[in-house]
Amino acid sequence: MSLFSAVEMAPRDPILGLNEAFNADTRTTKVNLGVGVYYNEEGRIPLLRAVAEAEKARIEAHAPRGYLPIEGIAAYDKAVQELLFGKGAALIEAGRVITTQALGGTGALKIGADFLKRLLPDATVAISDPSWENHRALFESAGFPVQNYRYYDPFSNGVNRGGMLEDLRNLPARSIVVLHACCHNPTGVDLQPEDWKAVLEVLREREHVPFLDIAYQGFGDGIDQDAEAVRLFAESGLEFFVSSSFSKSFSLYGERVGALSLVTSSREESTRVLSQLKRVIRTNYSNPPTHGATVVASVLNSPELRAMWEAELGEMRDRIRSMRLAMVEQLATLGAKRDFGFVAEQRGMFSYSGLTVEQVERLKNEFGIYAVGTGRICVAALNHGNLDSVTRAIHAVL
Ligand code: PMP
Repeated sequence: MSLFSAVEMAPRDPILGLNEAFNADTRTTKVNLGVGVYYNEEGRIPLLRAVAEAEKARIEAHAPRGYLPIEGIAAYDKAVQELLFGKGAALIEAGRVITTQALGGTGALKIGADFLKRLLPDATVAISDPSWENHRALFESAGFPVQNYRYYDPFSNGVNRGGMLEDLRNLPARSIVVLHACCHNPTGVDLQPEDWKAVLEVLREREHVPFLDIAYQGFGDGIDQDAEAVRLFAESGLEFFVSSSFSKSFSLYGERVGALSLVTSSREESTRVLSQLKRVIRTNYSNPPTHGATVVASVLNSPELRAMWEAELGEMRDRIRSMRLAMVEQLATLGAKRDFGFVAEQRGMFSYSGLTVEQVERLKNEFGIYAVGTGRICVAALNHGNLDSVTRAIHAVL
């Protein structure tokens, strides 16, 4: 009998399945709004000019490819801290933050989850309802029970504030709470500053461990604006985790560039914590890859390339915003039965559009427009070439 004879087929990843169906579709008018990447006006993943410049310099330097330290490139880790907490932030100066390079935001969540399992083996993890689908799987595979806290309110297309706070209060004390710091995936619906304060107070009261996930810094309102929640937590005196990613903000998806930052209560604690976190990394993949983080560090640390990157990031952000507005306007002009104004209030690449499973199915079958069954659409996949057909199709299925 084969070693693998009892291995069952794993369930298909719904989004990958959607991409396969999209690729097999022969209609020339097809549009894929199911994706999780930023497309430019030409419908392509951009290679940022700042990235291309930094890559050129790196290739020309013919740098040898030795192993990196376990925690990654020091200049990269420092740049990540400054993006998250602000240059010269008190907790950086106090030695209360440790940052390690990670294999994308996913890798950061993974090493964070593995480390937490050592610190709090019996804890419960809570994620938003809904959340990025990998959150649950990542924490479950680290051995934690995972439950949801109420988050999205389909009636107001906003946050269920009361439900969220109540659920956070009712979790067992010292639970791990995963929070989307900005540009919530999949809904696009974010907490407001006063909501963050209320959430922070519940976490403090219940001694929960905050795990902030920030995968879209700069895609919402701006680099510093999108880090507001991170900075609020930084001022709170609490210990917490932050996973961050440059997949979107640098358009470096396949290079796997992310980081895990831990905020401790003192410099002395940081030293001990880092030594243990390094063991977690060592037994996962030993040390991180060189290319992506070198590129990101050189962009962030060169005034010229940094200004170029900030401008390009601003262009991506503005393009998404203008697509949101254009979608709302077009649907109103077409006389859509529903007010889609909420789409303009959402942040980041995604929108919970309010479309039902049946409507999503009709969009695909009748119009070749692909969206996730939950009604999630990627606004960053809209452009002036497809906006008209997408809005007409949505209007038709409403
Ligand atoms: N967190 C959230 C909320 C995400 O949406 C994603 C992926 N898009 C990630 C983490 C993972 O990022 P990465 O692709 O860098 O692993």
